[in-house]
This record gives sequence, structure tokens and C-alpha cells, in this order.
Amino acid sequence: MGTSQPDTSTTAQAVFERAPQQLYVGGRWVDAERGATFDVVDPSTGEALCAVADASPADGRAALEAAAAAQASFAATSSRERADTLMRAFDLLHDRIDDLALLMTLEMGKPLAEAHGEIAYAAEFLRHFAGEAVRIDGGYQAAPAGGARFLVAKQPVGPCLLITPWNFPMAMATRKIGPAIAAGCTSVVKPAQQTPLSTLAFVDILREAGLPAGAVNVVTTADATGVMEPLIRSGLARKLSFTGSTKVGRILLEQCADKVLRTSMELGGNAPFIVFEDADLDEAVDGAIAAKMRNMGEACTAANRIYVHQEIIEEFGDRLTEKMSALPVGRGVDDGVRVGPLIDEAARRKVSELVADAVQQGARVLTGGVTPTGQGYFYPPTVLTDVPRSARMADEEIFGPVAPLTPFKDETEVVAAANDTEFGLVSYVYTNDLRRALRVAEAIETGMVGLNQGVVSNPAAPFGGVKQSGLGREGGPTGIEEFLETKYIGIALA
Ligand code: ADP
Repeated sequence: MGTSQPDTSTTAQAVFERAPQQLYVGGRWVDAERGATFDVVDPSTGEALCAVADASPADGRAALEAAAAAQASFAATSSRERADTLMRAFDLLHDRIDDLALLMTLEMGKPLAEAHGEIAYAAEFLRHFAGEAVRIDGGYQAAPAGGARFLVAKQPVGPCLLITPWNFPMAMATRKIGPAIAAGCTSVVKPAQQTPLSTLAFVDILREAGLPAGAVNVVTTADATGVMEPLIRSGLARKLSFTGSTKVGRILLEQCADKVLRTSMELGGNAPFIVFEDADLDEAVDGAIAAKMRNMGEACTAANRIYVHQEIIEEFGDRLTEKMSALPVGRGVDDGVRVGPLIDEAARRKVSELVADAVQQGARVLTGGVTPTGQGYFYPPTVLTDVPRSARMADEEIFGPVAPLTPFKDETEVVAAANDTEFGLVSYVYTNDLRRALRVAEAIETGMVGLNQGVVSNPAAPFGGVKQSGLGREGGPTGIEEFLETKYIGIALA
């Protein structure tokens, strides 16, 4: 453990003392029914940091009732007012960035520098949707047969349920709450059990920024199914926006069918990262590290299968191994650390099982691959080569710092391999041949493509997947549409 920040625990103490740990319902911080709580654990030590309110189904119901009660008045606020609230929250996120980053690193494990980066990224969703709020448009059109006019208006969908994952606890919250507020929808947010503190802190910022009571409510719970299913089936909510695994996404889609809820689903990925023989090798190696190691590999956008042309795979493997093995692993709060712990023991066990399976099937370990002993859920940056198609990790999300290399011979073969998956979130393609770049980008079945770049996330761009990676897009010009209904008013002209 580093000793460069001896006052981290004192600072952390102060940050926790200020951090909300209750439910936020109807504009008030309240305890859960019977004062129930669950522990939030620091994944770098395995020890409890604090206890937050553990909502019951009745608490969830109260939160959704508060959202439903506030819907009409919130929809009636001016879009300028809502945009101004988002911009005040944007400023507050930046004012408090150091404390918020520390809170996030402690509950989630990512290095402080990445936590800072995430809060700046999270804030950008607020700025983006503040701009979208005041540009919600409509239309006026003559009926083709004449004699009538069409008036087209956009209206908020209504009360929303927003379920977020633990890997980007602030950005996934603002990416949903931002457009909901912009569109005039009220909501109930349920952050992941592992990382509730960032969302709670953000909602307190919204309160400070002047958001009306009931417009956003938060329930933290250790019983996601028990609390959320009745809300989804209640008839009070009109929409569910979910980011998480495809497995849970399927269950939620079924539950949403009951009351025909609108859905936005950001589900799992299995991103191919393709390096052609004409690529700039240094850029491709750096891109692979960015695509693989952001968030310790715990991202749905993480490069999950790295296909390298057979002529350059050895050189690529050497350079990648050199850089991966030099990445400092440790507690996210310590200076210079690039790789924090995984979120919990189950996540680490899965990574180590996937590596063991690949090795058993003929993959070679170039670096890493051994689970360390000691406290915290650490796993070393790992490079495997000659990973066969039959390895489990060719089909399943690794969600850890493991880069599996597989050689390929030609474009047709690698595009077929890249598309041989149920997922379709993002792909990465490295080549200096413009025609090939466009051919492959068009042929690949993903919602997003990184061409000579290892990170695609951008609040101003439409983020989302095809196939079993999801439905809908977040961010970009279409992000707000997910929270709007189109109403057409037919007008008879005498
Ligand atoms: P991960 O595997 O990354 O933890 P999950 O899909 O399990 O992803 O979780 C993403 C979010 O969905 C979390 O907030 C989690 O609590 C929530 N969740 C998990 N299962 C359910 C469920 N059955 N109903 C509602 N929410 C759920």
C-alpha cells in the first residue's frame, strides 16, 4: 500500500460524514422502513465503509408515488428552468470533484484519476441535456390529402424507473437522470448495491441546485428484485431505463411487458478489437490498453476479444505485454496506481475461471494470470495469446484486466469472427487503409465503432448497442427522445 497520501483516511472520514446515506423520497432524506441498512464495502480492503438505507418494497412504492405525484407539476416547469437546474448541478459537480472522486474510489475501487475523469464525464451529460432541454421540437404540417393540419408535440413519457450499475456509478446516473430532467420526467433511481454513495451524493447536489421535490427519488436496496419488480408492474411508472447485464435485462424486459413500459436497455458487450497489418502499431497498443484497461476492464465497452493480423501478432503481443505488466496495481486512493481492485470476490473468481479455461484450451499467458493473495479483490493486468474460439471468454464478458489475443489471416475471416456473438455494443478497428476502415465499420454488427481509437464514450454521441446489447441510445441528439412521447393533434380545417 502506498504511503504518499497519509491523510487519505482523515479526508475520507470527512467525506463520509457529509455523504448522504438515506433514501431520498419526495424531496426529503428518510430512513428505510424499520431503519434497515446494508454495508458498502471498499473492494480494495474488503472492509465495510459505511451502511446505507436498505429500502423495502414499501419504501420503493413510496418513492414511486412521490415521483408520480410530482409528474404533472414537473412537466409544467419551463425547459429553461430545468436546463438551469442541470447547469447548476454541472457546476456543483466540478466544485466538489475532489470529494466526489474520493467517495467513488472508496466504494468502487477505480484509481482516483479515473474517478476524477468519470465525474467530469458525468457532468458533461448534464451540460449536454441542458442544451437539449430547450430544443425539444415539434411540427406543423398540411395533410397530404388537404383539409387538415397535423400538429406534432413532444411530451415527457411520465414517471421513470432508472436502474444503474456499479462500474460507472456517477456517469450512468447522470446519463439517465440528465435526460429525464431535461424532458420533464420524474424518476426513481436505483443505484447498484455495491456503489450507492455516488448517486446519493449526486442527488443531494440536484437538491441543492433547486430541483423540485419528487422530481428525482432514490432507493438504495440489497433486494433489487423484491423492490423493483412491484414498481415495474405497478402501472405508476411509464418507462424503465436500465444499464446492466443482458441476463437481468431480459428479465426486466419481460416484467415491462406486463404494463407495456417504454424501455431503454444498455446491456452487455463482447467488443472485438481488430488490428490490421497496416495499422500504426504503437497507436494500436495504446488503444488496446485504453479499450481494455479503462475501469480495470470493468466496462461493457471493454475490448473482450483482440484479433491481431498473424504477421504482427508477435510484435503486438510483446509491446502490449511490456506496457500491461508495467501498470501499477494497488488501492485506487494511492498515488500513481493505474489498476485498482475488481468490484468483489465473485467478479474476481469469474475472471480467474475464464483465464483458467482459456489456458486449458491452449492459450498462452504472456503476463499476469495469477490471483494474488492478501486483502482486496485485486487481479493483475494479464495478456493471453492464441486464445481459441472455443474459449469461454470468446463468448462471455470478462469484466477484468485480461487481454486475450487471437491471430487472423484476412478481413473476411476477422469480420465473421467479430460478428460471431450475440452481443453488438461496440467494436474497435485499427487500420490506415480508409477503404478497409469503412468497409469493416459498415460490416460489423455493433451500435458503435472506434476507428483508430480505443474509447468511444462521449455524451454528445449516441451510445448504445444492437443485437442482445440493448435497445435505444443514450446521450447524443437522440438521448432525450428516449424520455419523450410524440403526440399528434389532427386539426380539421373547415
Ligand atoms: P452486474 O452483473 O454488472 O452487477 P446486473 O445486471 O446484475 O449487473 O446489475 C445492474 C443493476 O441492476 C444493479 O443496479 C442491480 O442491483 C440491478 N438488478 C439486478 N437484478 C435485478 C432485478 N432482478 N431487478 C431489478 N434490478 C436488478
